[in-house]
Amino acid sequence: MANRQSGRNEIERLDREYTLGTWTRQRDFDPTQIVDTNGPRIVTADGDSILDFSSQYVCTSLGYDAERVSDAVAEQIRTVPYVNPGWATEPRARLSEKLAEITPGPLKKTFYSTSGTEANEAAFKIARAYTGKHKILSRYRSYHGATAASLSASGDPRRVAQGPEIQPEVPGMVKGPDPYAYGSSLDPDESLEYIDEMLKLEGGTVAAVLVEPLVGSNGVLTPPDDYLPRLQEIAHDHGALLICDEVMTGFGRTGEWFASALYDAEPDIITMAKGLTGSYQPLAATTVTEEIAEYFEDTLLNQGHTFAGHPTACAAGVAAIETYEEEGLVENAREMGQYLKSKLDSLAERHPSVGERRGVGLHQGLELTKSTDERVPFEQREDKVSSTTTVLDEVGARALDNGVYFYTSVNTIVVTPPLTITRDEVDEAVDALDDALRLSD
Ligand code: PLP
Repeated sequence: MANRQSGRNEIERLDREYTLGTWTRQRDFDPTQIVDTNGPRIVTADGDSILDFSSQYVCTSLGYDAERVSDAVAEQIRTVPYVNPGWATEPRARLSEKLAEITPGPLKKTFYSTSGTEANEAAFKIARAYTGKHKILSRYRSYHGATAASLSASGDPRRVAQGPEIQPEVPGMVKGPDPYAYGSSLDPDESLEYIDEMLKLEGGTVAAVLVEPLVGSNGVLTPPDDYLPRLQEIAHDHGALLICDEVMTGFGRTGEWFASALYDAEPDIITMAKGLTGSYQPLAATTVTEEIAEYFEDTLLNQGHTFAGHPTACAAGVAAIETYEEEGLVENAREMGQYLKSKLDSLAERHPSVGERRGVGLHQGLELTKSTDERVPFEQREDKVSSTTTVLDEVGARALDNGVYFYTSVNTIVVTPPLTITRDEVDEAVDALDDALRLSD
């Protein structure tokens, strides 16, 4: 990709001048303008068409041509663009009904917000009020959001070592080990025993165990098939709820509507965002069981947002779910996921710098390693809190030069294309990556 051939254009200059970039030192904030999209591709102001194999932070699961969704949003804006959450609207009611249908087990009622972060914050409040306990047990390699409590619940080796000015420390957040067989001294069984022991030692004060069923930005950590149901049992044995953060894994990404269902678990609460509207509108949801919802019949649900259940966002949600259904996208994720997996496995065999391929469906990742025998990661940059590793950056940049965009995070190339992806597009992306991985070998 000939990135920004003629220097920054006017929009890029304005953006650089007046916008504070997220998760970055501002010196490193230098965004390229995107002027168009089509199918799974984004188009820069210089006319470069980039195949998006990240779905932009694992968001645009419908690709960029979901007309049913854009039409539904346009229609809703013309009729009821907004009323406060105290009023009923058709899109919110229909979406809540639909979510009760597609979520696993006895999940029934949904609380709305606008980001995955807020969905998790709501889950914490609900779990605390319902159980009468205050602690949340999450895991070291996890990401649950950017506000104080959700970031406190997040692990992430890049942040754990930071001081409270960067990594907040809201009281009552405890962390346990992850099912990370490749890079941890505990195997997944031992990590479960450890969590069991922690819950015992916390003396019945833990309201909920919070996990990403299949960890995303912390390296696509994929648990053994029986891990999640066993974790659920352990949590319940100690009187704690199981909250599954499906902000990344929800809406077909793993080849099932929800990864909890893939693993035969029935969480007490599921949080979701991103794929909920295919990110055509900002919308997040916290869906709880009927039993938990019942508790709030006579107890105040002490949480809410001005934009909760925003009509245009809910209209996008309904249309997005209809699109997943009518276009068979969950099935496509399963089928293309198998194909992608086999292609990535063959990359892993051929490239010494690929330590392990992990993932399910279209939620895949390649962990890079400096030394396969000793599983040594490439060095982190010293001066950037949120940075990926240098070599990882280089591999990502080369793939982008080859016309394909991958999300790179914690030593891992995250491979999460839209659910609309075809075999030819998988081939195109894997070829681009094949070439880029020569930089890390
Ligand atoms: N939970 C998970 C698993 C995520 O991956 C993310 C974001 O990437 C979040 C929560 C936070 O979502 P948001 O960025 O919409 O606040």
